[in-house]
Amino acid sequence: MRQTRLHAPTIKDDPRDAEVVSHRLLVRAGYIRKLAAGIYDFLPLATRTIQKISNIIRGEMNRAGAQEVFLPAVQPAEIWVESGRWAKYGPELLRFKDRKGAEFCLGPTHEEVIVDLVRRDVRSWRALPLNLYQIQTKFRDEVRPRAGLMRGREFVMKDAYSFDVDEASALASYEGMYAAYERIFQRCGLDFRAVEADTGAIGGSRSHEFQVLALSGEDKIVSCGQCSYAANVEQAELVRAPTNTAEPTCAAPQAVPTPNQRTIAEVSAALGVPESRFIKTLIVQVDGALVAVLLRGDHELNEIKLKKRLGANEIALAHEGQVLQATGAPVGFAGPVGSLNVSRIIADNAVRGMVDAVTGANQADTHLTGVAEGRDFKVSEFFDLRLAVENDPCPRCSGALRTFSGIEVGHVFYLGTKYSEAMKATYLDEAGHEKPMVMGCYGVGVTRIMAAAIEQNHDENGIVWPAAIAPFHVHVLPLQMNVPEVVEAAEALYKALSDAGIEVLLDDREERAGSKFKDADLYGIPWRVAIGARGVKEGIVELKPRRGGEVRNVPVASIVDELKALLA
Ligand code: ATP
Ligand code: MG
Repeated sequence: MRQTRLHAPTIKDDPRDAEVVSHRLLVRAGYIRKLAAGIYDFLPLATRTIQKISNIIRGEMNRAGAQEVFLPAVQPAEIWVESGRWAKYGPELLRFKDRKGAEFCLGPTHEEVIVDLVRRDVRSWRALPLNLYQIQTKFRDEVRPRAGLMRGREFVMKDAYSFDVDEASALASYEGMYAAYERIFQRCGLDFRAVEADTGAIGGSRSHEFQVLALSGEDKIVSCGQCSYAANVEQAELVRAPTNTAEPTCAAPQAVPTPNQRTIAEVSAALGVPESRFIKTLIVQVDGALVAVLLRGDHELNEIKLKKRLGANEIALAHEGQVLQATGAPVGFAGPVGSLNVSRIIADNAVRGMVDAVTGANQADTHLTGVAEGRDFKVSEFFDLRLAVENDPCPRCSGALRTFSGIEVGHVFYLGTKYSEAMKATYLDEAGHEKPMVMGCYGVGVTRIMAAAIEQNHDENGIVWPAAIAPFHVHVLPLQMNVPEVVEAAEALYKALSDAGIEVLLDDREERAGSKFKDADLYGIPWRVAIGARGVKEGIVELKPRRGGEVRNVPVASIVDELKALLA
């Protein structure tokens, strides 16, 4: 490709709404343009990278025995009503009507469509297992589309769905997809972890996320320094620490004034007591009722665990009015001692046996010190309710957990019969009995991979693509377009590399060397070959890897073979 013909306009300044580096660089390097919030145009370079990612995914899905299909983006409401999700899926589902008033949605995922397809034609155990996948545009009206391609409203996903005769066979399908995912992310050149995950709104019981490690990631994950255990912090099981058996040193709680000190950090600083000696009292709405949830001051509530432990449908932190109603005090001074107007008090395991603790006093500008669990207040039930933190003990071995930020690029779910039962996708087994198919579903964020790869691979000058998903392999830069020998050498190299099946971008623009280098760094193509007037005379070109390498002089005669070897 000649750069004079390439539509990849670079810009100097960062887009104003860019919060993460992938968003900044994709816009500045002319890969994407925003059409509306969370909705982007993909320009030629981005399209090439997306195709590379898609082809890696395709290769691995086909190899794992899945078959590619292409399903409609527009989905009728009826099948969503059948699965029960028309009512359940919130405002992320973009719904609309056709001219006759029939209701539709833009597909955020395709369980309903695929189950409808399979139930119509698959009747016998002989047709199973069956695994169908597609690479297609999804639409989710995310509350806060952000970070460019990382959380778009319109994005490309690979989604696969497996159908099996029983659980054992379905778990084998799951394992097959898990292994395919490991190969996909390895081949894309990503540093990732597969972690145990919550199953969320999609449902099902077994699930792993594939997380690309990056500081900008929205997800927090933990992984053991010693064994292979890794999980999303939402999911991570926590080992119960031994209950504190120390005797209290204070005979009774004492009120202390804490004017305008509403956060644990503020009170901790003012009293000189570490946050781990605080009992945090959260007033939470659980399916309409108010519940007090106690945590150690330095721990965070895991809302997903709370919801699961209580078997609740809906939980949310109480608003100001409800806190006042429950505690008689403004937000920031809640505590478990005395009268609390809540349906019950529950606590995280770490609160059990706490003594000499600090809590809110249910009175404005006041806290209590010297509080002891059991003596000064009663908890109706203890659970594992908190988020895992750095150095928590591993639930599988004697190691300690490390925390990381991650970007979820893939997700595999064991679904069981949730959808097949709701939508009556059944088959006849060998004995002629009708049974629900056992399902799994498997997603990969194709466009999110592109962003995640940049989050992991960039420097201050631009993108540094892993070779497998770079839009081109080699960038050839003739440095003086007014020197015929330079142009000739560049043209000859362009032809030779192209003939060798290498994807080359030739910067044939009448630009100064400096601006060619700048744009080359921004685009992030793995190998740069610069051809200058002096080198041409001596029969050499300058080869430089985009990733941190030194410039190296290579004889013109051997550059093609050299690049072939480097790219092999
Ligand atoms: P998240 O928790 O990030 O919202 P999710 O759990 O809703 O993701 P899935 O329904 O499992 O995601 O979708 C499969 C994959 O699609 C995800 O692993 C992710 O890579 C990608 N994906 C999901 N939502 C978006 C989005 N808004 N923009 C880009 N990619 C997305
Ligand atoms: Mg989501």
